Amino acid sequence: MRPVTVLYTGGTIGMRPGPDGLGPDAAFEGAFRAAVTARDFHWLETPHLLDSSAMGPQDWQTIADLSRDISGGLVILHGTDTMAYTAAALSFLLHDLGAPVVLTGAQVPMQSDGSDAAANAELALDVAARSPRAEVMIAFGGALLRGNRAVKCHAQNPEAFCSPNFPTLNGAESVQFAHPFTGRQISPVGVLKLYPGIGAEALGGFAHLPGLVVEAFGSGNMPGEGTSFHAALMLARRRGQEIVVVTQTGGGQVAARTYAAGASVAQLGLIPGGELTTPAAVTKLGWLLAQGLRGDDLADAMARPVAGEMS
Ligand code: ASP
Repeated sequence: MRPVTVLYTGGTIGMRPGPDGLGPDAAFEGAFRAAVTARDFHWLETPHLLDSSAMGPQDWQTIADLSRDISGGLVILHGTDTMAYTAAALSFLLHDLGAPVVLTGAQVPMQSDGSDAAANAELALDVAARSPRAEVMIAFGGALLRGNRAVKCHAQNPEAFCSPNFPTLNGAESVQFAHPFTGRQISPVGVLKLYPGIGAEALGGFAHLPGLVVEAFGSGNMPGEGTSFHAALMLARRRGQEIVVVTQTGGGQVAARTYAAGASVAQLGLIPGGELTTPAAVTKLGWLLAQGLRGDDLADAMARPVAGEMS
Protein backbone atom coordinates (compact mmCIF):
# COMPACT_ATOMS: atom_id res chain seq x y z
CA MET A 1 0.00 0.00 0.00
CA ARG A 2 1.30 3.44 -0.92
CA PRO A 3 0.54 6.68 0.96
CA VAL A 4 -2.56 8.53 -0.24
CA THR A 5 -3.50 12.22 -0.34
CA VAL A 6 -7.09 13.41 -0.72
CA LEU A 7 -7.48 16.77 -2.49
CA TYR A 8 -10.89 18.37 -1.96
CA THR A 9 -11.89 20.85 -4.69
CA GLY A 10 -15.67 21.16 -4.06
CA GLY A 11 -18.57 19.42 -5.78
CA THR A 12 -21.74 17.73 -4.54
CA ILE A 13 -19.81 15.14 -2.50
CA GLY A 14 -19.02 17.77 0.14
CA MET A 15 -22.00 20.07 -0.32
CA ARG A 16 -24.62 21.25 2.16
CA PRO A 17 -27.94 22.98 1.54
CA GLY A 18 -27.87 26.80 1.54
CA PRO A 19 -30.47 29.50 0.75
CA ASP A 20 -30.08 29.04 -3.04
CA GLY A 21 -29.49 25.28 -3.08
CA LEU A 22 -26.46 23.05 -2.50
CA GLY A 23 -23.04 24.68 -2.12
CA PRO A 24 -19.55 23.45 -1.08
CA ASP A 25 -19.01 22.91 2.66
CA ALA A 26 -15.69 24.33 3.87
CA ALA A 27 -15.65 22.01 6.90
CA PHE A 28 -16.00 18.70 5.09
CA GLU A 29 -12.85 16.89 6.18
CA GLY A 30 -14.31 15.52 9.44
CA ALA A 31 -17.43 14.16 7.75
CA PHE A 32 -15.32 12.54 5.02
CA ARG A 33 -12.96 10.88 7.51
CA ALA A 34 -15.92 9.60 9.51
CA ALA A 35 -17.60 8.09 6.44
CA VAL A 36 -14.70 6.08 4.96
CA THR A 37 -12.86 3.05 6.35
CA ALA A 38 -9.37 4.27 5.32
CA ARG A 39 -7.69 6.09 8.22
CA ASP A 40 -4.32 7.04 6.96
CA PHE A 41 -4.43 9.75 4.33
CA HIS A 42 -3.33 13.36 4.02
CA TRP A 43 -6.01 15.98 3.41
CA LEU A 44 -5.56 18.99 1.14
CA GLU A 45 -7.98 21.59 -0.22
CA THR A 46 -7.87 23.96 -3.16
CA PRO A 47 -8.00 27.65 -2.13
CA HIS A 48 -11.55 28.07 -3.50
CA LEU A 49 -14.03 25.20 -3.14
CA LEU A 50 -16.21 25.24 -6.22
CA ASP A 51 -19.22 23.80 -7.90
CA SER A 52 -17.38 22.37 -10.90
CA SER A 53 -19.70 24.16 -13.32
CA ALA A 54 -17.71 27.29 -12.38
CA MET A 55 -14.28 25.75 -13.08
CA GLY A 56 -12.03 26.53 -16.03
CA PRO A 57 -8.45 26.16 -17.29
CA GLN A 58 -7.10 28.19 -14.37
CA ASP A 59 -8.59 25.70 -11.92
CA TRP A 60 -7.14 22.73 -13.86
CA GLN A 61 -3.80 24.48 -13.50
CA THR A 62 -4.21 24.94 -9.75
CA ILE A 63 -5.13 21.27 -9.30
CA ALA A 64 -2.21 20.14 -11.51
CA ASP A 65 0.25 22.33 -9.58
CA LEU A 66 -0.91 20.90 -6.24
CA SER A 67 -0.87 17.34 -7.65
CA ARG A 68 2.75 17.58 -8.85
CA ASP A 69 3.98 18.11 -5.29
CA ILE A 70 2.35 14.93 -4.01
CA SER A 71 4.11 11.58 -3.81
CA GLY A 72 1.96 8.46 -3.57
CA GLY A 73 -1.61 7.98 -4.73
CA LEU A 74 -3.95 10.94 -5.15
CA VAL A 75 -7.73 11.08 -4.78
CA ILE A 76 -9.35 14.27 -6.08
CA LEU A 77 -12.84 15.05 -4.75
CA HIS A 78 -14.53 17.03 -7.51
CA GLY A 79 -17.93 18.07 -8.83
CA THR A 80 -19.34 15.76 -11.46
CA ASP A 81 -20.46 18.43 -13.93
CA THR A 82 -16.99 19.07 -15.35
CA MET A 83 -15.06 16.20 -13.79
CA ALA A 84 -14.35 14.69 -17.22
CA TYR A 85 -12.74 17.98 -18.36
CA THR A 86 -10.50 18.18 -15.30
CA ALA A 87 -9.55 14.50 -15.64
CA ALA A 88 -8.64 14.94 -19.31
CA ALA A 89 -6.72 18.15 -18.55
CA LEU A 90 -4.72 16.42 -15.80
CA SER A 91 -3.94 13.49 -18.10
CA PHE A 92 -2.07 15.95 -20.34
CA LEU A 93 -0.65 18.29 -17.69
CA LEU A 94 0.81 15.62 -15.40
CA HIS A 95 3.78 13.75 -16.87
CA ASP A 96 5.60 10.64 -15.81
CA LEU A 97 3.08 9.75 -13.14
CA GLY A 98 4.45 7.28 -10.62
CA ALA A 99 1.11 6.50 -8.96
CA PRO A 100 -2.65 6.65 -9.62
CA VAL A 101 -4.56 9.95 -9.77
CA VAL A 102 -8.23 9.17 -9.15
CA LEU A 103 -11.07 11.68 -9.43
CA THR A 104 -14.34 10.98 -7.70
CA GLY A 105 -17.40 12.78 -6.38
CA ALA A 106 -21.07 12.05 -5.87
CA GLN A 107 -24.54 12.68 -7.20
CA VAL A 108 -25.89 13.05 -3.64
CA PRO A 109 -23.94 14.82 -0.84
CA MET A 110 -22.08 12.54 1.56
CA GLN A 111 -24.06 13.96 4.46
CA SER A 112 -27.48 13.29 2.87
CA ASP A 113 -29.59 10.13 2.95
CA GLY A 114 -29.07 7.69 0.09
CA SER A 115 -25.71 9.17 -0.87
CA ASP A 116 -23.41 7.43 -3.33
CA ALA A 117 -20.44 9.39 -1.91
CA ALA A 118 -18.97 6.85 0.52
CA ALA A 119 -19.00 4.01 -2.02
CA ASN A 120 -17.31 6.21 -4.63
CA ALA A 121 -14.75 7.44 -2.11
CA GLU A 122 -13.93 3.88 -0.97
CA LEU A 123 -13.33 2.80 -4.56
CA ALA A 124 -11.13 5.82 -5.28
CA LEU A 125 -9.11 5.41 -2.05
CA ASP A 126 -8.56 1.73 -2.76
CA VAL A 127 -7.37 2.39 -6.34
CA ALA A 128 -5.10 5.23 -5.17
CA ALA A 129 -3.52 3.02 -2.48
CA ARG A 130 -3.13 -0.23 -4.39
CA SER A 131 -3.55 -0.01 -8.15
CA PRO A 132 -0.48 -0.44 -10.36
CA ARG A 133 -2.05 2.04 -12.83
CA ALA A 134 -0.08 5.27 -12.95
CA GLU A 135 -2.65 7.29 -14.88
CA VAL A 136 -5.51 9.73 -14.36
CA MET A 137 -8.81 7.91 -13.75
CA ILE A 138 -12.39 8.49 -12.69
CA ALA A 139 -13.82 6.12 -10.08
CA PHE A 140 -17.60 6.43 -9.99
CA GLY A 141 -20.67 4.23 -9.55
CA GLY A 142 -18.51 1.09 -9.28
CA ALA A 143 -16.70 1.82 -12.55
CA LEU A 144 -13.08 2.77 -13.05
CA LEU A 145 -12.65 4.81 -16.24
CA ARG A 146 -9.69 6.31 -18.06
CA GLY A 147 -9.99 10.01 -17.26
CA ASN A 148 -9.56 11.28 -20.80
CA ARG A 149 -12.10 8.79 -22.21
CA ALA A 150 -14.92 9.63 -19.81
CA VAL A 151 -17.99 11.83 -20.21
CA LYS A 152 -20.77 12.64 -17.77
CA CYS A 153 -23.73 10.82 -19.28
CA HIS A 154 -26.44 11.06 -16.62
CA ALA A 155 -27.54 14.03 -14.54
CA GLN A 156 -28.83 12.02 -11.55
CA ASN A 157 -27.99 8.29 -11.72
CA PRO A 158 -25.19 6.94 -9.52
CA GLU A 159 -23.64 5.50 -12.70
CA ALA A 160 -22.98 9.03 -13.92
CA PHE A 161 -20.00 8.46 -16.22
CA CYS A 162 -19.62 6.62 -19.51
CA SER A 163 -16.60 5.81 -21.60
CA PRO A 164 -18.11 5.68 -25.10
CA ASN A 165 -15.13 4.48 -27.12
CA PHE A 166 -13.02 2.68 -24.57
CA PRO A 167 -13.67 -0.16 -22.10
CA THR A 168 -13.74 0.39 -18.35
CA LEU A 169 -10.43 -0.21 -16.62
CA ASN A 170 -11.79 -2.55 -13.93
CA GLY A 171 -9.55 -5.60 -14.20
CA ALA A 172 -7.66 -4.45 -17.34
CA GLU A 173 -3.86 -4.42 -17.67
CA SER A 174 -2.03 -1.27 -16.66
CA VAL A 175 -0.03 0.75 -19.18
CA GLN A 176 2.61 3.46 -19.06
CA PHE A 177 2.32 6.55 -21.27
CA ALA A 178 5.38 8.26 -22.70
CA HIS A 179 5.26 11.29 -24.98
CA PRO A 180 7.57 14.13 -25.98
CA PHE A 181 5.37 17.05 -24.83
CA THR A 182 5.97 18.82 -21.54
CA GLY A 183 3.37 21.61 -21.56
CA ARG A 184 2.10 22.74 -18.18
CA GLN A 185 -0.64 25.08 -19.31
CA ILE A 186 -3.91 24.98 -21.23
CA SER A 187 -5.17 27.81 -23.46
CA PRO A 188 -8.90 28.60 -23.50
CA VAL A 189 -10.89 26.69 -26.14
CA GLY A 190 -14.60 27.02 -26.96
CA VAL A 191 -17.14 24.34 -27.92
CA LEU A 192 -19.77 24.84 -30.59
CA LYS A 193 -22.46 22.20 -31.00
CA LEU A 194 -24.00 22.23 -34.47
CA TYR A 195 -27.80 22.43 -34.74
CA PRO A 196 -30.08 22.25 -37.74
CA GLY A 197 -30.18 25.68 -39.37
CA ILE A 198 -26.87 26.87 -37.88
CA GLY A 199 -25.50 30.03 -39.51
CA ALA A 200 -22.55 32.42 -39.34
CA GLU A 201 -23.87 34.10 -36.18
CA ALA A 202 -23.13 30.96 -34.16
CA LEU A 203 -19.37 31.57 -34.46
CA GLY A 204 -19.48 35.21 -33.35
CA GLY A 205 -18.94 34.65 -29.63
CA PHE A 206 -15.82 32.54 -30.18
CA ALA A 207 -13.74 34.98 -32.24
CA HIS A 208 -11.39 35.89 -29.36
CA LEU A 209 -10.43 32.27 -28.60
CA PRO A 210 -7.34 30.66 -30.16
CA GLY A 211 -9.09 27.31 -30.47
CA LEU A 212 -12.54 25.89 -31.04
CA VAL A 213 -13.98 22.37 -30.88
CA VAL A 214 -16.91 21.89 -33.26
CA GLU A 215 -19.32 19.10 -32.34
CA ALA A 216 -20.39 18.17 -35.87
CA PHE A 217 -23.24 15.92 -36.93
CA GLY A 218 -22.60 12.18 -37.36
CA SER A 219 -19.19 11.35 -38.76
CA GLY A 220 -18.13 14.99 -39.11
CA ASN A 221 -20.86 16.52 -41.27
CA MET A 222 -21.86 20.19 -41.38
CA PRO A 223 -23.36 22.79 -43.75
CA GLY A 224 -20.88 23.09 -46.64
CA GLU A 225 -19.85 25.55 -49.36
CA GLY A 226 -22.39 28.26 -50.14
CA THR A 227 -23.72 28.44 -46.56
CA SER A 228 -23.05 31.29 -44.15
CA PHE A 229 -21.73 28.79 -41.62
CA HIS A 230 -19.05 27.60 -44.07
CA ALA A 231 -18.10 31.21 -44.86
CA ALA A 232 -17.80 32.00 -41.15
CA LEU A 233 -15.57 28.95 -40.59
CA MET A 234 -13.36 30.10 -43.46
CA LEU A 235 -13.01 33.54 -41.86
CA ALA A 236 -12.18 31.98 -38.51
CA ARG A 237 -9.42 29.94 -40.15
CA ARG A 238 -8.06 33.05 -41.91
CA ARG A 239 -7.91 34.77 -38.51
CA GLY A 240 -5.72 31.86 -37.36
CA GLN A 241 -8.24 30.05 -35.20
CA GLU A 242 -7.50 26.32 -34.90
CA ILE A 243 -10.63 24.16 -35.13
CA VAL A 244 -11.01 20.52 -34.11
CA VAL A 245 -14.03 18.52 -35.25
CA VAL A 246 -15.59 15.81 -33.06
CA THR A 247 -18.87 13.99 -33.37
CA GLN A 248 -21.85 15.12 -31.28
CA THR A 249 -23.34 11.59 -31.33
CA GLY A 250 -21.71 10.51 -28.06
CA GLY A 251 -19.92 7.53 -29.61
CA GLY A 252 -17.95 6.48 -32.67
CA GLN A 253 -15.58 8.79 -34.47
CA VAL A 254 -15.12 11.48 -37.09
CA ALA A 255 -14.70 9.99 -40.57
CA ALA A 256 -15.19 13.19 -42.53
CA ARG A 257 -14.46 11.71 -45.96
CA THR A 258 -17.56 9.51 -45.81
CA TYR A 259 -20.00 12.19 -47.00
CA ALA A 260 -19.68 15.23 -49.23
CA ALA A 261 -21.15 17.05 -46.21
CA GLY A 262 -17.87 16.36 -44.40
CA ALA A 263 -15.74 17.98 -47.11
CA SER A 264 -15.35 21.24 -45.13
CA VAL A 265 -12.94 19.46 -42.81
CA ALA A 266 -10.31 19.00 -45.53
CA GLN A 267 -11.25 22.17 -47.50
CA LEU A 268 -10.83 24.50 -44.53
CA GLY A 269 -7.97 22.75 -42.74
CA LEU A 270 -10.10 21.72 -39.79
CA ILE A 271 -8.51 19.05 -37.60
CA PRO A 272 -10.41 15.75 -37.42
CA GLY A 273 -10.71 14.79 -33.76
CA GLY A 274 -11.22 11.06 -34.47
CA GLU A 275 -12.70 9.34 -31.45
CA LEU A 276 -11.84 12.09 -28.95
CA THR A 277 -14.55 12.98 -26.49
CA THR A 278 -15.37 16.69 -26.28
CA PRO A 279 -13.58 17.09 -22.92
CA ALA A 280 -10.47 15.36 -24.31
CA ALA A 281 -10.56 17.43 -27.52
CA VAL A 282 -10.95 20.73 -25.61
CA THR A 283 -8.13 20.03 -23.18
CA LYS A 284 -5.72 18.45 -25.67
CA LEU A 285 -6.21 21.29 -28.15
CA GLY A 286 -5.79 23.91 -25.41
CA TRP A 287 -2.70 22.16 -24.09
CA LEU A 288 -1.03 21.94 -27.50
CA LEU A 289 -1.96 25.55 -28.34
CA ALA A 290 -0.35 26.67 -25.07
CA GLN A 291 2.86 24.99 -26.25
CA GLY A 292 2.81 27.15 -29.37
CA LEU A 293 1.80 24.45 -31.87
CA ARG A 294 -0.10 25.66 -34.94
CA GLY A 295 -1.01 24.41 -38.42
CA ASP A 296 0.39 21.06 -39.54
CA ASP A 297 2.41 20.57 -36.35
CA LEU A 298 -0.75 20.98 -34.32
CA ALA A 299 -2.75 18.65 -36.58
CA ASP A 300 0.01 15.99 -36.34
CA ALA A 301 0.13 16.26 -32.57
CA MET A 302 -3.67 16.11 -32.28
CA ALA A 303 -3.64 12.86 -34.30
CA ARG A 304 -1.01 11.24 -32.09
CA PRO A 305 -2.11 9.48 -28.85
CA VAL A 306 -0.45 11.14 -25.88
CA ALA A 307 -2.06 9.73 -22.74
CA GLY A 308 -4.42 7.02 -23.98
CA GLU A 309 -7.04 9.52 -25.13
CA MET A 310 -7.23 7.84 -28.57
CA SER A 311 -6.25 4.45 -29.94
N1 ASP B 1 -22.96 20.87 -9.68
C1 ASP B 1 -22.15 19.84 -9.06
C2 ASP B 1 -20.71 20.04 -9.47
O1 ASP B 1 -20.33 19.67 -10.53
C3 ASP B 1 -22.63 18.50 -9.45
C4 ASP B 1 -21.93 17.34 -8.76
O2 ASP B 1 -20.90 17.45 -8.15
O3 ASP B 1 -22.49 16.21 -8.84
O4 ASP B 1 -19.94 20.57 -8.73
